[in-house]
Amino acid sequence: MIAPEVLKWIDNHRQEQVNELLEFLTIPSVSTCPDHAADMTRAAAWVLEQLEQLGLKARIWPTARHPVVFGESLSAGNCPTLLIYGHYDVQPPEPLDQWLTPPFVPDLRDGYVYARGATDDKGQFFTYLKALEAILNVDQALPLKVKILVEGEEESGSPGMAALLQQHRQELDADVVAISDGSQFARGIPAITYGLRGLCYLQLDLQGPRVDLHSGAFGGLLTNPVQALAGLLTKLTDPQGRVAIPGFYDEVETLQPWERDQMATLPFDEEQLRTGTWSQALPWPNLIESPTRRGKDQARDATRKAPPPAATPQKNGCSTDDRGEKRKDKPGGSFAIPPGPGPWHGIILSLIHI
Ligand SMILES: [Zn+2]
Repeated sequence: MIAPEVLKWIDNHRQEQVNELLEFLTIPSVSTCPDHAADMTRAAAWVLEQLEQLGLKARIWPTARHPVVFGESLSAGNCPTLLIYGHYDVQPPEPLDQWLTPPFVPDLRDGYVYARGATDDKGQFFTYLKALEAILNVDQALPLKVKILVEGEEESGSPGMAALLQQHRQELDADVVAISDGSQFARGIPAITYGLRGLCYLQLDLQGPRVDLHSGAFGGLLTNPVQALAGLLTKLTDPQGRVAIPGFYDEVETLQPWERDQMATLPFDEEQLRTGTWSQALPWPNLIESPTRRGKDQARDATRKAPPPAATPQKNGCSTDDRGEKRKDKPGGSFAIPPGPGPWHGIILSLIHI
């Protein structure tokens, strides 16, 4: 259970928390752009100060490029250790002419904050800090040991992370890792993301005739490389959206009944998905189920354990909403600040149930 006093503390400090978030969002910490090197240092210093204000033992770990900020609170005795991951760098904001307001001048519109990095990952990461702050202020102690790692190269592919993890293996030892770099299922429904689709890409070059050929004379007789490529691409999936590459699903884990049961309790709204993503139509009639239903190794997956009892869904308003991050008409991403309870309520719920 979340102590009501903790939630009340959050609500009583709501405005100053929002102001702090807006201040964080003004720092143009674009990790891929050398021109922003000083801003990266400033953003790391901002995070460091936040961790120190929480009473964490905090320090900067230099890397070849942008520093990592680390903090820890180990005073919770024999309790499990939670490691929270976040990143303070953001995507480049270009093209600038598609922003309704400047990317690093946070704008509050309709209960949302619009700014570069608002939903990736400054907003989400900030909620963890504020959850810890609230618990510390009310209870004077955390219910578990906490470590926080905030990097500045996530948007650059985290080139230094593997070496850093090796280097600081002992200090990063933890029982649970919470990645703040995700989103909630919907307003009022916090989520712990424990799986995402992977990514695999390659470059395929198709070569055709060396010279332009007259379509009237050669069309149909020779294959246009574009047509051949289109033919290849359409064979990557079947009409139901299933990947048609042989062996693709061999190592894919199948959803277990308990996972399906929990997902079934979520208020998924296909129409909302369509409109929320500005999509004309959803491509597959059974979008959510079809790709995951077809794993082969049922026997192996049956050995996976069911989770501890699920947290009670939080009814009060909290939401980080990813919509609009790269949209032309709603650029920059939006971080929901609904009227009423702050968005960090859900994070507290998550922390307590870990
Ligand atoms: Zn991110």
